[in-house]
Amino acid sequence: MTVNQASRAQILKRQHWIFDMDGTLTHAVHDFDKIRADLGLPPGEPILEALSRLPPKLAQPLWEQLDAIEVDLARQATPVPGVAALLATLDRRGCMLGIVTRNSLVSVRETLRACELAEYFPEKYIKDRDCGAPKPEPDALLELMQLWRAARDDVVMVGDFLYDLQAGRAAGVATIYVDYAHTAQWSEYADISVTRLDQLLT
Ligand SMILES: [Mg+2]
Repeated sequence: MTVNQASRAQILKRQHWIFDMDGTLTHAVHDFDKIRADLGLPPGEPILEALSRLPPKLAQPLWEQLDAIEVDLARQATPVPGVAALLATLDRRGCMLGIVTRNSLVSVRETLRACELAEYFPEKYIKDRDCGAPKPEPDALLELMQLWRAARDDVVMVGDFLYDLQAGRAAGVATIYVDYAHTAQWSEYADISVTRLDQLLT
């Protein structure tokens, strides 16, 4: 825990929760190195940015290939332990729930359906990679906050990766790092770190 108990409790009482999807709500099955290799992209570079830099004619079939790979992976997704308990509790409390993901909307739908989590996320509160600049840019988070008319100090961003936490910080909201691998790799970007989502139920 990187904040004292009082501010932790205050953060957990917030009414607006924005989640990353892959690896946060669901088990990460993406092997990004393999996807890069399949698409013929150079190793180590973020996929969306690499595709965006290609000439459109060259990029178009690769975007389609990426969509197909992702939908296939989405159908194999499984929920992380504790996710249903957390979402059900937040839902009961009347919280607004949203997703900001670097994934495509069609694979978000498939993933949520496969994991039986779709009921918690109205589609208007899902910001996919076609909704403007991807994380770590804060744009999609700010859009959700505007939709909800939410003040910064009533919002949390929950994610398992650096970009999620950076996007949260850039939007000026509290950040929660779900560190399933117990590496504490990005703890410095988080207000709260947990190793299971149901640790957020106080
Ligand atoms: Mg993730």
